[in-house]
Amino acid sequence: APNGALVAGHGGSSARGHGTSDVGSVLSTDAYCHRHEITVTGDNVPPPFTSFEATGLPSEILREVHNAGFSSPTPIQAQSWPVALQSRDIVAIAKTGSGKTLGYLIPGFIHLKRCHNNSQSGPTVLVLSPTRELATQIQDEAVKFGKSSRISCVCLYGGAPKGPQLRDIDRGADIVVATPGRLNDILEMRRISLHQVSYLVLDEADRMLDMGFEPQIRKIVNEVPARRQTLMYTATWPKEVRKIAADLLINPVQVNIGNVDELVANKAITQHVELLAPLEKHRRLEHILRSQEPGSKIIVFCSTKKMCDQLARNLTRHFGAAAIHGDKSQGERDYVLNQFRTGRTPVLVATDVAARGLDIKDIRVVINYDFPTGVEDYVHRIGRTGRAGATGIAYTFFGDQDARYASDLIKVLEGANQRVPPEIRDMASRGGGGGMGRFRRWSSGGRDGVRGGRNDSSYGGRDGGRG
Ligand code: ADP
Ligand code: MG
Repeated sequence: APNGALVAGHGGSSARGHGTSDVGSVLSTDAYCHRHEITVTGDNVPPPFTSFEATGLPSEILREVHNAGFSSPTPIQAQSWPVALQSRDIVAIAKTGSGKTLGYLIPGFIHLKRCHNNSQSGPTVLVLSPTRELATQIQDEAVKFGKSSRISCVCLYGGAPKGPQLRDIDRGADIVVATPGRLNDILEMRRISLHQVSYLVLDEADRMLDMGFEPQIRKIVNEVPARRQTLMYTATWPKEVRKIAADLLINPVQVNIGNVDELVANKAITQHVELLAPLEKHRRLEHILRSQEPGSKIIVFCSTKKMCDQLARNLTRHFGAAAIHGDKSQGERDYVLNQFRTGRTPVLVATDVAARGLDIKDIRVVINYDFPTGVEDYVHRIGRTGRAGATGIAYTFFGDQDARYASDLIKVLEGANQRVPPEIRDMASRGGGGGMGRFRRWSSGGRDGVRGGRNDSSYGGRDGGRG
């Protein structure tokens, strides 16, 4: 087999970097990985560092970690540190809040020490992050944990004047944390050089792709020398992320925390699923809209652009609704979104493609007027509500035409402790789905329309697909 021959787990006598003869540590590694649901794929994956002491990290970093009150590495840190310290590419999949930031920053600090680069000639470590908020959080951690190692860090993001950021760059930085859009702008101005970057992190890769940053990411990566270490951190592992990982990483070690195949919906969202005939949907939709608290922001998803326009037109008489989909110009989209954000148009009717990347807070209700082409999109859609500790409600209209998704949907509902309507269970037991819905969708490609969406055929075809 080529060097892609993957060894699952740390098993196999040659699959371990050091200490293979120490049976005791083999067992404790396995026990540790089992307890923390760590699974790895790759050749010769080193065992996790189960304590800070085992890391052999420089004392000034250990001091910061102790000062922060951390008692042990989180599982993603425990497993990604030894891999990253071997200068290998990594894909790390772990949910939000699992400590991914230090997972890549601390090996980045060590990498910096090894490089001895002059920060005046450009950064050595580059971290791409989807939003300004996340980028500044990463910078805060880099400053906090790197200051005693005299590591300098600059943060570049949109929505703020460029001047101060350009001045920060000119002063020199070991680490640049940037959103792809702003970094790309600055690259085009030729005000930063990435020729010295040898440690590249794509943080929240799924979210960056979701927000449509793929072209900018690819342009940026083209400016980074091929001789580099690339680390990708992501909370989910959909096809788009796999694709970009395959393009940008070389023979990575993959580290999963928890079960990634299981689609997990936010438990703070109440999920209602209703079996409805197509002709019943409209009345039910109006009824749901009428029963919401005034001012609640609501997104209605449907599968075609035509249906989007039609629904928005019908609803707007009573509710203040607008449609957003791939046939709308950028100006129209901006206008519609602004009306929605400010609450002047409380109901947004959208296709999946148009809704991708919208970062709108305080959405109270998600309504799936049409079921999406797979439960992955379902989880994604309903995840637009219930953000940041708020509760949300999702209503989903399910029909006979969706039967093939029934059993996958049940898994998602059960995984989030939601009620499964008996009609849906019946449907699944009559053979709908069989648990293959996701895979079937990935392998077909027919129903979803053109990859990358924005297929602007205006006869109401599906508004592109997620892949
Ligand atoms: P993620 O990027 O996976 O969402 P973060 O890196 O933002 O997670 O970390 C979440 C929180 O956990 C942060 O407040 C961080 O300071 C804290 N944290 C990181 N590492 C540890 C650790 N080893 N022990 C305890 N808390 C930690
Ligand atoms: Mg993070």
